Amino acid sequence: MVYLDHNATTPVRSEVLRTVREAMTEYWGNPSSTHSLGRKAFACLETARERLASILGASSRELFFTSGGTESDNLAILGIADQWGDGNIVISAIEHAAVHDAAYSLKAKGFEIREIPVDENGIIAPESALERVDDKTRLVSVMYANNEIGSVEPIREVGEKLASRGVPFHCDAVQAFGKVPVDVRLENVSLLSISSHKIYGPKGCGALYARSGTSFRPRTFGGGQERNMRTGTQNLPAILGFVSAAELAMKTLEADALRINDLTEMMFQKISDKIENVIRNGHPRRKIPGTLSICIPGAETESLLASLDQEGICASGGAACSSGSVGASRTLLAIGRRKVDAICTVRFSIGRNNTVDEINTAVDVLEKVTNRIRQANL
Ligand code: PLP
Repeated sequence: MVYLDHNATTPVRSEVLRTVREAMTEYWGNPSSTHSLGRKAFACLETARERLASILGASSRELFFTSGGTESDNLAILGIADQWGDGNIVISAIEHAAVHDAAYSLKAKGFEIREIPVDENGIIAPESALERVDDKTRLVSVMYANNEIGSVEPIREVGEKLASRGVPFHCDAVQAFGKVPVDVRLENVSLLSISSHKIYGPKGCGALYARSGTSFRPRTFGGGQERNMRTGTQNLPAILGFVSAAELAMKTLEADALRINDLTEMMFQKISDKIENVIRNGHPRRKIPGTLSICIPGAETESLLASLDQEGICASGGAACSSGSVGASRTLLAIGRRKVDAICTVRFSIGRNNTVDEINTAVDVLEKVTNRIRQANL
């Protein structure tokens, strides 16, 4: 099998697995318990929070552990909006469903949702974000890097401008954290979401950074954990695994990025040599390492993915496709792809364990299945 779907999820690193196993046997106490086992777990939890905070350039009081990117995004958007009866929320046109759908759920409560368009490479213009902000704007949310096409947004510039206007700024950094350096102070964000399973950590774990002074309301009520903002007994083994994965990612970030970028460019080169009329999606330079999204006109995503899978290649389509529906992805339409091309898109996302041989195999298989599907469609 060749796994080329690392933007969907990643395998747990062996060092992380050891950490999780150790946590499950040694630190299984409830961090809220006052006895020695609980205190031991609590100490571990708080040390992990400090370690993660130091990676992000945050203070540990600004970090809230959650069940992952989706919950962090929801907590940020709904938690901010909950403080207001109405107003508007500004998001980019290519947000992940965890942001997009959370924002649109607020329409029923009387909020207006304003979308910032992207250019043909999937990048927003900071001015165009600002143009949509007025005194009824409750939050602006722009993703750091897009999950489908990999483009990296001008977060720092938008953050700077919004800070001077006092508007809270949320960033979904789920696809960026662990792949490119992310520092919350430099990026000028008020809130930032990250997830463990995209960086070789366990699933069902993530964090929300909320700059001190940023006020938002909780979505859960109970025992008061995470300073009341995300109550419920913390999943300490997953949290320790997440933080260990984050530290490992920082250590190998540059070397991984170089190698993964090389593999990605090599893959695209080989694909364009072997397959006619492929269209690459995303910005040529402003991008996270490893994402390769291409439209292969005449070969529908569903057929491509099923045929690739039969030959042992794991890849992905657009976001809509991954949830079982066949519609064209919002992201691809937003960058100006025609619907007929958008529904013929495959996303390969390369990770730290992939090899040149695997890429060669995947390209050979892609060539074969593309020819077959295109022939059948003639
Ligand atoms: N945001 C982005 C950009 C993502 O790519 C994903 C996952 O695909 C999420 C949010 C959701 O994260 P999680 O799977 O941890 O809930």
